[in-house]
Amino acid sequence: MDTATEKHSLTTLRDRLADYMDKKGLRSTAQRRLVTELFFKSDGHLSIEDLWAKVRRRDPKVGYATVYRTLKMLAESGIAYERKFGDGVSRYEVAHEDEHHDHLICTECGRIVEFEDEEIEKLQEALAKKAGFRLTRHVHELYGHCRDCQAKASA
Ligand SMILES: [Zn+2]
Ligand SMILES: [Zn+2]
Repeated sequence: MDTATEKHSLTTLRDRLADYMDKKGLRSTAQRRLVTELFFKSDGHLSIEDLWAKVRRRDPKVGYATVYRTLKMLAESGIAYERKFGDGVSRYEVAHEDEHHDHLICTECGRIVEFEDEEIEKLQEALAKKAGFRLTRHVHELYGHCRDCQAKASA
C-alpha cells in the first residue's frame, strides 16, 4: 500500500472511530488517542504486549488495561482486525479500506508473512459459489517453517 493510499485510509478510519465513539458515548482521552495513534503508525501484527511496550516508551503511566480496552474498541468498530495465529495470542493489525491479505506463519519463530494472490482469491470465490455460498469474508492461514528456521534446523 503506497503512502498516499495509506494516509487516505487512515483518515477514513479516524472518522469511523470518531463516529463509533460518539454513538457509544465513549470519551476520547489523551491515553486512548496515544494508543490509537501508535497502533495506526505501526505496521504488522501487534499483540497487546507489543503495543503496550511502544506506548510506555511515550507515556509510562499508561496501563495494560487501557491498551487492552482500546484495542478491543478498535476491533469492535472494525478499525482493527484481531487475529489468532495458533498460539492463542491475539494480534491486531490495521483494517485498511479495500485491502486484503492472508498470512503465512512460522511455527518455530513466529514470523508472519503477508501474501495476496489473485489466483487463490478467485479459486476461493469459485469454490464457495459451487457450494452455494456468497462469501462475505475469509481467513487463509498457512503454517510451516520459514527459510531461516529451515536453515537453522539443517545446520
Ligand atoms: Zn521461523
Ligand atoms: Zn496481516
